[in-house]
Amino acid sequence: MTMLENKPDTSDTLANAAAEGNVQKQQAMQITEEARKEANLPSFGANLFMGNFSYDMVYPFPLQSEEDKRLGDVIIDRLMSYLKQHLDPELVDKTREIPKQVIDEMKKMGIFALKIDKEYGGLGLSQTNYCRLVMQVASYCGSTAVLISAHQSIGVPQPLKMYGTEAQKKKFLPRFRQGAISAFALTEPDVGSDPAQMSTTAEISEDGKYYIINGDKLWCTNGTIADLLVVTAKTAPKVIKGKERKQISAFIVELPAQGFEVVHRCEFMGLGGIYNGLLRFKNVKVPVENLLWEEGRGLALALGTINVGRLTLPAACTGGAKQCLSIARRWGASRVQWGMPVGLHENGREKISYIAATTLAMEAVSWLTCAFADEKKYDIRIEAAMAKLFCTESLWKIVDKTMQLRGGRGYEKASSLEARGEPPYPVERIMRDCRVNLILEGSSEIMKLFLAREAMDPHLKRLSALLNPKATIGSKIKAVVQAIGFYGLWYPKQLLSTLFSSSYPQSPRLAKHLKFIEKHAHILARKIFNAMARYQQGLEKRQLLLGRLMEIGTDLFAMAATCSYAIKLKEQGDKKESPIDLADYFCTLAQRRITENFKALSNNDDKPGNALAEVTLEGAFRWLEEGIVEI
Ligand SMILES: Cc1cc2nc3c(=O)[nH]c(=O)nc-3n(C[C@H](O)[C@H](O)[C@H](O)COP(=O)(O)OP(=O)(O)OC[C@H]3O[C@@H](n4cnc5c(N)ncnc54)[C@H](O)[C@@H]3O)c2cc1C
Repeated sequence: MTMLENKPDTSDTLANAAAEGNVQKQQAMQITEEARKEANLPSFGANLFMGNFSYDMVYPFPLQSEEDKRLGDVIIDRLMSYLKQHLDPELVDKTREIPKQVIDEMKKMGIFALKIDKEYGGLGLSQTNYCRLVMQVASYCGSTAVLISAHQSIGVPQPLKMYGTEAQKKKFLPRFRQGAISAFALTEPDVGSDPAQMSTTAEISEDGKYYIINGDKLWCTNGTIADLLVVTAKTAPKVIKGKERKQISAFIVELPAQGFEVVHRCEFMGLGGIYNGLLRFKNVKVPVENLLWEEGRGLALALGTINVGRLTLPAACTGGAKQCLSIARRWGASRVQWGMPVGLHENGREKISYIAATTLAMEAVSWLTCAFADEKKYDIRIEAAMAKLFCTESLWKIVDKTMQLRGGRGYEKASSLEARGEPPYPVERIMRDCRVNLILEGSSEIMKLFLAREAMDPHLKRLSALLNPKATIGSKIKAVVQAIGFYGLWYPKQLLSTLFSSSYPQSPRLAKHLKFIEKHAHILARKIFNAMARYQQGLEKRQLLLGRLMEIGTDLFAMAATCSYAIKLKEQGDKKESPIDLADYFCTLAQRRITENFKALSNNDDKPGNALAEVTLEGAFRWLEEGIVEI
């Protein structure tokens, strides 16, 4: 008998898990739906999904003002010149420590109070300046970028700024200028992408003065060194409309606290210097004044925080992409094999041009979404999710191409390269550091589901009475009449509008791409609607189909941002070579992906793939695993 045969049969377990999963899923969906917050402001992405290319929202490109840039440059230059002298990213990676004196110096500079308003002692930087700073740090040392961003993007400052009371802000925000470090504790060993199922509890004490927190929080970044945490936990359920509803709430926990323990500092594939841990709460008392927002709003707070927090990752990834571009350019031009620089062989050229063009697109998407956040005119939930999805996925492809171009040296550690006298390009470290970006702050899969929910929202609102089995006949008839009125005009418009397009005189070379976006927004909107009509409730299970639609939307958004950005850069006229060339090439690649994705909506292998996955999970191919040392 082999080791594999000893394993329990999984088919019953799978069936039970699926049945139990359905109940859990319904609860999770309900809680997540309740936590969804609409800003009631215009959104480029929401318009796109309904067939409208709102070019006026992205053009002219909202470039950072010189005045704001000057404010950011002061602190960015100061920090970067200090880090370059005192921080060795390879050593951080190897020793798993960011030197204490570096952290202390950053505290003195106010790096942990970058986005905090001046009235609370902070530096009051704009989102754009904050992200520019993170971009530069990330291009140099991923672990240090994570220390800054986990604290500022999702740690205490952001939710406190968004949801805290004045008293809470006055009490906690000034501490960050003095160097307090914070973290955000949502994930648990049993819940990751689906935090609605969390089991950590916060019970009110008998005297009503405290919440008493019990539970484990996993992978909390900065959690092992934090002075303050945002912790989410279940509070007492409430009866709403006759039904008992789970309540998730958020608290500020001041450390050290009795009953709090760092059980384990986690070690990862990359980000050696990340201070990330498994945290345990055993009867940890938190004053009721530390409840953030209201009881039951913890998940909404987490989602709201992450909507803005998510903007840091695109900027950090852009920093990584620029570093790869620099390495690929220098190596591609200097390494000669078979009588030619490796970057000039056709395989090398493809890599170099992809890296350069995609880096421009990442920068465009990053600065556009940051500008949206600073302007506060738009609902940016969709664009932030698209930026996160696009930039994290793009950097992974870029670093892979850079590693391939570097050959064996790509795989060699920078310290080893340096020891034998070669330039210490840290491609393998960048690769290890950046992989996690596709997983955290909403994995790529979850981003696509989030986007799909938003894309369908206008239709769900119009058709909710029709889809609701409990709706009265009267309300159904009313909904039918309204739907006929709306869709009778909307649908033909999506069909006919593909025949015409606006003119885009700002750039004759990019006009074809802008017309493509306009036309394909109509097609995308129609395909989303068709999919809803065809699959109805079953659509949520068609994740690959939804994923393709959302990838199309994301590429259209990236194209729009890139065209507008390139036009602006060209107008500024300080670039030697035209950014239009890069934008043109990026858009050509994106168009090809979009066309492929449209084709794959009807021509794909989803069905056999789905069936095969099921039997594989049930153990049908365990024979194929024989011959390994199973771990
Ligand atoms: C280095 C690092 C730092 C982190 N920092 C923090 C932090 O500071 N605070 C914090 O609270 N958490 C943190 N996390 C946790 C992180 O947010 C989670 O890893 C993430 O939410 C995914 O959860 P999971 O890893 O449990 O994956 P799971 O949720 O178990 O998912 C596993 C896989 O299944 C996919 N999947 C899950 N659900 C679905 C679905 N419905 N449909 C399709 N696919 C699905 C996922 O995309 C993923 O590919 C960190 C994690 C890491 C690795």
